[in-house]
Amino acid sequence: MRINGKRLYNHIKTLGGIGYEPELGTTRMAYSETFHEGRDYVKHLMEQAGMQTMIDGVGNLTGRIGGKSKQIISIGSHIDTVPNGGMFDGALGVLAGIEAIQTLRENGYQNHYSMEVIAFTEEEGNVIGGTFGSKAFAGVDQEEDVMRKISFYGMDSRSIQSSKRSSEDYKCYLELHIEQGGVLEANQIPIGVVEGIFGIARYKVTVCGKSNHAGSTPMNLREDALVKASQMILRMIDICKEVNSSMTCTVGKLSVEPGVVNVIPGMVEFCVELRCLDMGDIQKAVDKFMDEFCSDRVSIERFLWQRETEMDAQLKNLLGLCCQEQKIPYIEMPSGAGHDSINMALFTPTAMLFIPSVDGISHSILEKSEPEDMERGTNLLLEMILKLEKL
Ligand SMILES: [Zn+2]
Repeated sequence: MRINGKRLYNHIKTLGGIGYEPELGTTRMAYSETFHEGRDYVKHLMEQAGMQTMIDGVGNLTGRIGGKSKQIISIGSHIDTVPNGGMFDGALGVLAGIEAIQTLRENGYQNHYSMEVIAFTEEEGNVIGGTFGSKAFAGVDQEEDVMRKISFYGMDSRSIQSSKRSSEDYKCYLELHIEQGGVLEANQIPIGVVEGIFGIARYKVTVCGKSNHAGSTPMNLREDALVKASQMILRMIDICKEVNSSMTCTVGKLSVEPGVVNVIPGMVEFCVELRCLDMGDIQKAVDKFMDEFCSDRVSIERFLWQRETEMDAQLKNLLGLCCQEQKIPYIEMPSGAGHDSINMALFTPTAMLFIPSVDGISHSILEKSEPEDMERGTNLLLEMILKLEKL
């Protein structure tokens, strides 16, 4: 049994055209007019594939076909985008799920398990909060200010509560996604089996120096906060590499006081973000950094600690087996980006598959994945469903 790659690609292009503006990209932010238009289109595709559809209290769309067993094999991703985003991020996982189920039905396949394709809302977090839709679905705690924000969109706490499903009904969750990075392409490997999703820790670092005249203070009598901060940042990157070569370390925000061209910086504040599959290694790197730099002139304060997500070991093995049987080269790799799978993994056994992103670009009009890679990934998803049916 093989999926129809041409049809899948047409669906991707049609959905990607909703909210598309030339030279900018696709903008389909959750709860916007274009989002609703896109969701209507996906709902129509689900119904065409023979699924019953429903939209929950927060706006997640589910398409469902019943089976002999009430237990559900679920497949999904999100259909919202960032502003000026691409047409593949999220959309692929949803449309691939619909394509796989349509293929089963066209082949007269009698499914044992019930099946659901879920199109989550507000994964991107530009409107209410990251992965808001799948958090509600899986009953995961929401971010603090969510209640205030959802009231703008006519929702309240009951909308969230009523969207929560019961995990006993689910057998598993599968998500096919574009890699959004360049590892697969660089290694010329068509499939990534996701071993886990990076945990994230964020710290605010404050470095004190002494503001003074930029001309009359000789170099040996200065305490320049920016010079200190620069040395610290470079050292932090080295420490991360030493502790775990797959850890990422980013300083994306930095402010200099007083921020004047002819004054020696008196204070610098910057944020460090560390991502890794092993939170223990993040802690090790931070401890080492603190040992070397913490003083009464430097303070380090943690403001986010989001644990890593483990993918289900059995599902990962099955995905690997599917690749071997189909003679498709694959690697196991971590996901550096967050996904709805983070919440679904807390709810039901979860696995993810990546296909290559051209030039490793995502969240941009330049985001692209090749039609043959999407077709290959969707065929694997179908094989995986057929394997799970026998378990
Ligand atoms: Zn995504």
